[in-house]
Amino acid sequence: MKSNGKTVFVSPSESAKQKEYTQLVRAVLTAKYDEPPRAFVHTYGCQGNVADSERMTGQLLEMGYTLTDSPENAQLVLFNTCAVREHAEDRVFGNVGALKPIKERRRDMLIALCGCMMQQKHVEDRIKKSYPYVNLVFGTFAVHRLPELMYKTLCGGKRVFDTDASSAPVAEGLPVHRDSGFKAWLPIMYGCNNFCSYCVVPYVRGRERSRRCEDVLNEAREIIASGVKEITLLGQNVNSYGKNGDDGVDFAELLRRINALPGDFKIRFMTSHPKDCNERLLDAMAECEKCAHHLHLPFQSGNDRVLKEMNRGYTREHYLELIAYAKKVMPDISLTSDVIVGFPGETYEEFLDTVSLIREVEFTSLFTFIFSPREGTRAASMEDPVPAKEKSRRFSELLKAQEEIASKRCAESVGRVFRVLVENEAEKADGILTGRTDGNVTIDFPGEASLIGSYADVTVTSARNWTLTGELAKKTDNKK
Ligand code: SAM
Ligand code: SF4
Repeated sequence: MKSNGKTVFVSPSESAKQKEYTQLVRAVLTAKYDEPPRAFVHTYGCQGNVADSERMTGQLLEMGYTLTDSPENAQLVLFNTCAVREHAEDRVFGNVGALKPIKERRRDMLIALCGCMMQQKHVEDRIKKSYPYVNLVFGTFAVHRLPELMYKTLCGGKRVFDTDASSAPVAEGLPVHRDSGFKAWLPIMYGCNNFCSYCVVPYVRGRERSRRCEDVLNEAREIIASGVKEITLLGQNVNSYGKNGDDGVDFAELLRRINALPGDFKIRFMTSHPKDCNERLLDAMAECEKCAHHLHLPFQSGNDRVLKEMNRGYTREHYLELIAYAKKVMPDISLTSDVIVGFPGETYEEFLDTVSLIREVEFTSLFTFIFSPREGTRAASMEDPVPAKEKSRRFSELLKAQEEIASKRCAESVGRVFRVLVENEAEKADGILTGRTDGNVTIDFPGEASLIGSYADVTVTSARNWTLTGELAKKTDNKK
């Protein structure tokens, strides 16, 4: 795999070859089925995986598949997997096991597994040995080669495995089938160079590769023209966008250029890394009127020794300085973060530094995780004397502290008016809509379903621990 070098792009001849395979698959499917075969695509894990699945679904549609919500009646089941925590992996193996009786009834069903888990040798070996009914396995570097892999699976008569990590080119121009008509994921870079000691991502996603600014802008233009109201820029560490590019555009500049595109839309991004986040970016956020004042800045631990062991590359003090600057230039900023409890060797006192940090920052919400050892990472072989039960107790203590903070913040919102993107109808209440504020807080309010996909001004009337209730203040835009 290219490391620390320039980003490599999929060549035009390779793209043309995949287009040919698309047509070959289409011909095979037409000959085999009386009506278009159905594909069931299920995504585990992060938004990066969701964006990959949208590209794979786009390719499957071009091959002639239609989509179904149920694996029971699908001719192709595709699981896009996540390797970040053991729990996610266990779910995948459980769900693949559940496909076995369906496959026994329906021999023509193809089962394909892809994504981060497949990029690990021990997982590939386990599937080869214990899941003989899985037809196709491919990794994160082969998304653009799906037509070729499908053709080989359909016509080769053998199981196909493609987890080659020797090259990690960026593919442009793939067809994208977006899940939502008004929200869009826009990957700006792939991979990660950071090697946090607990994390498997750099091993399964390769080194950092940024897309060209012009390619990102072109996709943003298409997205906006299709009526999308919210674009979320994606990368494991968006703050290091452009470091291996030729056009000299860094993330702050990219944000400004997207902000300058005409249209009524919001820009969000994730994930920021405190090591690379800087005042230049926070200034750009503050000055770009389309950029949501929401910063997801994972701190992982509030203790400097633990941060060092995690190889995070910043201190608690540096993190708090960034937060102070963000609050100074954006007084309405909403802050969220990721936290790991129970990193190997973390003492109770060190854990309390995490609790004190969340009290100091007053996050809107947190994604909290108990440390999960990942094969091949440095932390997986560290001494880990704290019992699982004690880790769970600390985890609950952290959640309780965050609940107090979140409910206080929610209560402070009562009486305020927020411009909200209306996302769907509430699950259990007729006539109630659900939307999200700029700060990424969920708000329920009565309204007509025709508002879904547009912005509305909503006055907060009451607050719960994590979410708000409100009523329409005035309609600002009913265009989807
Ligand atoms: N690139 C992002 C960053 O550095 O903040 C996060 C990517 S990771 C897929 C999402 C989150 O999962 C991390 O921020 C971390 O809190 C959590 N995570 C990653 N590896 C983990 C592990 N081995 N055990 C528990 N949580 C983990
Ligand atoms: Fe994993 Fe760290 Fe990279 Fe985030 S920055 S993906 S936590 S290695």
